[in-house]
Amino acid sequence: MRRRFTKWIIIAAAYVAAALTVLNVALRIPAYTSVIMICFAAVAAVSAAILIVSLVNFEQERIFRERENISRIMQNINSMAILWDADFHYVEVNNELTKSIGYTSEDLSDIKTLKKVLPADAFAPSLQAIVNNRDEEFYVTAKGGAKVCTVWNTSIVSVTTYKKRTRYLMLSIGLDLSETVRMKEDLIRYSKDLSESESRYTLSMELSEIGLLLKEPGSSSYFISEQLRAMLGINVSNISAGVLRARFHPSDVMIFDALEGAMENTHNADNNTVHYTEFRMLAADNTYHWYQFRYKINPGKNKILADIGGAILDITKDKEKDSLIEKMAYIDDITQIYNRNKFMQIGQETFECCAEAGQNYWVIVLDIDNFHIVNDTCGYINGNKLLKEFGKIVKESLTKGGFGARIGGDNFALLIRDNGDEELPVNIIRKIQIKLHDVCGEILMNQSATCSAGYCKMSDGGDDFAKVLDHAEFSLSMSDGTKNDIIRYDNKVHDKILAGNALEAELSHALKNHELALYYQPKINLSDGTLMGMEALIRWIKPDGTIVPPNQFIPVAESSLLITQISDFVLHEACRQNKIWQDKGYPPVTVSINLTAVDFYQTNVKESIQKALEETGLAPQWLDVELTESLALKDIDNAIKQMEEIKELGVKLSMDDFGTGYSSLSYIQVLPITLLKLDRSFIMYLEEDEISREIVSAVIRIAKSKKIETIAEGIETIGQAEILKQSGCNHAQGYFFGKPMPADKFEEFMAMKAGITVNS
Ligand code: C2E
Ligand code: MG
Ligand code: MG
Repeated sequence: MRRRFTKWIIIAAAYVAAALTVLNVALRIPAYTSVIMICFAAVAAVSAAILIVSLVNFEQERIFRERENISRIMQNINSMAILWDADFHYVEVNNELTKSIGYTSEDLSDIKTLKKVLPADAFAPSLQAIVNNRDEEFYVTAKGGAKVCTVWNTSIVSVTTYKKRTRYLMLSIGLDLSETVRMKEDLIRYSKDLSESESRYTLSMELSEIGLLLKEPGSSSYFISEQLRAMLGINVSNISAGVLRARFHPSDVMIFDALEGAMENTHNADNNTVHYTEFRMLAADNTYHWYQFRYKINPGKNKILADIGGAILDITKDKEKDSLIEKMAYIDDITQIYNRNKFMQIGQETFECCAEAGQNYWVIVLDIDNFHIVNDTCGYINGNKLLKEFGKIVKESLTKGGFGARIGGDNFALLIRDNGDEELPVNIIRKIQIKLHDVCGEILMNQSATCSAGYCKMSDGGDDFAKVLDHAEFSLSMSDGTKNDIIRYDNKVHDKILAGNALEAELSHALKNHELALYYQPKINLSDGTLMGMEALIRWIKPDGTIVPPNQFIPVAESSLLITQISDFVLHEACRQNKIWQDKGYPPVTVSINLTAVDFYQTNVKESIQKALEETGLAPQWLDVELTESLALKDIDNAIKQMEEIKELGVKLSMDDFGTGYSSLSYIQVLPITLLKLDRSFIMYLEEDEISREIVSAVIRIAKSKKIETIAEGIETIGQAEILKQSGCNHAQGYFFGKPMPADKFEEFMAMKAGITVNS
């Protein structure tokens, strides 16, 4: 401010001095006055010079201040800016630009660097273009070479004339377009994708034959897409709800009503949920097709009604496939009734419903007795016919809410709703048995077929239906096809069997582990007290030394195939041991083994015996086979046949436990036995009970008359031995003579016996 004021004073002084000098000359003022005046003139001249210099400085300062102002503005704007003069002698850049391209302002004030940054044509902007205020878009090159897309607007911000030269100062404001360019590229790509996906969508709609069904908001009519029009054979794009409803299958009209109803009740509806339904509708070919409708409901707001819209797909072929698969998976081929899979499925559903609703069902399992014989004697075709008829009978026997299926070869099952009558299952089974008998006449050429059944109540135990069915099947397995042909599930029996199964597994392991061994009990000739033979009796000796008697495991072995293996072991071991003793020079005696009904009827016993004899080298007359009376009488014809075959080998046959069954001696005489073994129950009371004595002596007498020798078992006292000897009994066995003992002990017994005779 002070500088400006001083300038003006000097300028004024210069003017006054000049004016005074002119006045002095004009008025011819004296010399001293002239000196004064010259002084004034000099002052005026100096002032004028100062004034001129000041004016020049003033102009420069103006230019300086102007630039200062422009520079301040430049640095404060958020865009890139370059202040430059036409010949690039002057260049100033702002911070925004240096930030964007990585050069410092000093770098850019050097024209060489600037030329690297700006494109070549940026150096020749025509003034006209600048005046026209045109936007220039070009890439600037950042430090490191990256190209930054920019747009520039240049305007003349200052015009100065100095030394007769007019200078223009231009300000270029630039915007970094990188982000915009990226967005633009994204937009292009996106719109390309969009158009591609739109065309893909249209194509997939056409290929997959998806139709669109939309309810017009606020209207009662439906919009039908072109594809759906083709599917339904409709040529208008809008149809009323009534017309659409009429196209629905009568059984599925309620689905349409439910859809319409859904739009009336949309208060809590969430318009993001995709709903799904299936129904039948009249198609273009005028038949009902299955359609799948995936839709969304737009809840109605304020006075705007809700609307519905979604995609419709023809799923008729899938449905056909499903029903074929369902048929293949759930329908039995022969009987055309449901199979086990379906029975399990329905059974489980029923089981769950029963638990909730407090209802109950009966589960009945049926088995056609000896169906394999039907197949063998009447052929498979007739066997299948019988199954088919039985399937029909099962179906007809169902009460309301019941379900029937073929659950295995000749096994059928029924689910019967409990009506409180405990006799209901038995009554149904009896009726089925009668009907089966009736159809047999036609199919099996008057041969008859019967069926057995097991049944249980759903509530009789089990956590699921599989367990319940298990129970019914277990009961069926307990039936014997004769007197006990209908058996209700009893959990106590089941538990016992299960324990038996565990024992069976243990026994099987014992067999492999060589835990089974033979004990030998002497058989004595009562007439002279000599050893006439020994009975091989099996023992299970557990690793801890516990000895399990045969009564505890033979019945379990008998109910499984294990008995065959056990009998084979006994047969071989007894023959082998007897042969060893004979080879050692002991007086030869017979070894007796015990066989069960399973061995006798279900295996080729003759072959097994022959093999054992051959393999061990024992002569057949030293082997005796003990059979029980009940075994022999079970199927007497077969028994005789088998026994004859064994006898032909030269092996002896004994009738064990005689007197415990229902047999009479008249039966016995038809059996090819050589020895009759009186059961211990007769011997026990021999000394005190006269009737026992009379029975025993009568049996011995009759046997003798039939040329059958007798032996008494269970002799514990000398008195018993005496009575038997007097009654004419040939041989004796019992603790009195010797308990069953292991082979080494028995050998000692034999050695001792060789020199000792019994005193009777
Ligand atoms: P079993 O064939 O009648 O055998 C006679 C049973 O009476 C033997 O019982 C024997 O130890 C017992 N005993 C012999 N003398 C007396 C006596 O004076 N007093 C008493 N209280 N008992 C006597 P064990 O060895 O327990 O055999 C029982 C049954 O097990 C046998 O009756 C037989 O039916 C069966 N058994 C034994 N070993 C075998 C075998 O290897 N195979 C088969 N299938 N069954 C066998
Ligand atoms: Mg015996
Ligand atoms: Mg016996």
